[in-house]
Amino acid sequence: MATFEELLGLWDGEQVVIRRDRESGGWIFLCMHSTQLGPAAGGTRLKVYETAADGLRDAMRLSAGMTAKLAVADLGLGGGKAVLAVPAIPQGDDRRALLHRYGDMVESLGGSFITSSDIGTGEEDMDVIAEHTEHVFGRSQASGGAGDPGPFTAVGVVHGIKASVAHVHGSDDLTGRTVLVQGAGSVGGTVAELLGREGASVLVADVDEERAASVAAAAGGATVDASTALETECDVYAPCALGATLSSESIPTLRCRMVAGSANNQLAKAEDADLLSSAGILYAPDYVINAGGAIAINYLELNNRTQAEVDAALAKIGATLTEIYERADAEAISTAAAADALAASRLSS
Ligand code: NAD
Repeated sequence: MATFEELLGLWDGEQVVIRRDRESGGWIFLCMHSTQLGPAAGGTRLKVYETAADGLRDAMRLSAGMTAKLAVADLGLGGGKAVLAVPAIPQGDDRRALLHRYGDMVESLGGSFITSSDIGTGEEDMDVIAEHTEHVFGRSQASGGAGDPGPFTAVGVVHGIKASVAHVHGSDDLTGRTVLVQGAGSVGGTVAELLGREGASVLVADVDEERAASVAAAAGGATVDASTALETECDVYAPCALGATLSSESIPTLRCRMVAGSANNQLAKAEDADLLSSAGILYAPDYVINAGGAIAINYLELNNRTQAEVDAALAKIGATLTEIYERADAEAISTAAAADALAASRLSS
């Protein structure tokens, strides 16, 4: 098992701030991977890990991903991430106290790190953190924030699906195209509904069968069994539940022409992008297509932009994907490699 020293020694980021949080028995890892394009921005993950080093590794890896994601989204932000690695998820006063201690840490960085919600935290937690620092967004609407980012992410995903369909078929008309939405939660629920309105034939898979049924009904579609969803024949597979569904085991079983959805870290391994290309499946790189929530919240909470400006920025996700697909075709590389190249060029300009 790697030690903190070994993990930090291998990392290419700028700074890690660590707090041994004795009060909770946990650790806080605040990683600033890059401030080259602006303050390091990224979510706050609250999670139980097997070891503290696992929490640090997660924060370092995720913050590097944020650098690429925010560079491609062109928001003038760098990449960061924080992990609150706790022995048990705290509730009530203990949770508030933990978030306040964390808020003090964020505040001490003077705005070079800004944060929002991630797995294990939500808008109410951002409201609590905001009691101790102004460098937090993703707050509730009641507190003057933009609220749940899911629906904004969903709008970006639908733009991404249309750009993918246009690249494959020459037209972004979704009429009659079958889209399998895996995960009918905050993002997937809205994706399904929007696709239904666009005339797509929507299939919904969720381990929560009731939720799948109600989302499918709202989208005018049907449900499929969550355990066999990936093998369903469809034009577009939209992973909107969990990561790592694209692997050397699953890719040969896919019966879709495109993969375009919101889930983070969809590829089990980086080289799985090449497997998708070889199988003739167009892959919308996850961190490009799922940036809508980050874009919208940033525009609305940090920059006071109008809804029309938000709409235009979300539509740009489709245009960015088209640019990535064209680059991948021209250079005979995977779409994931083309997205990474776009991020690298933004970081070097
Ligand atoms: P959510 O928790 O609201 O919904 C996830 C849904 O997936 C739930 O309904 C759950 O029952 C279902 N699910 C879990 N395991 C499943 C399985 N094996 N098969 C089918 N369904 C399953 O989450 P969300 O906010 O909608 O986010 C969905 C994905 O998108 C996550 O990977 C998240 O990291 C990513 N993402 C979300 C946002 C955002 O703005 N919410 C932004 C970027 C990326």
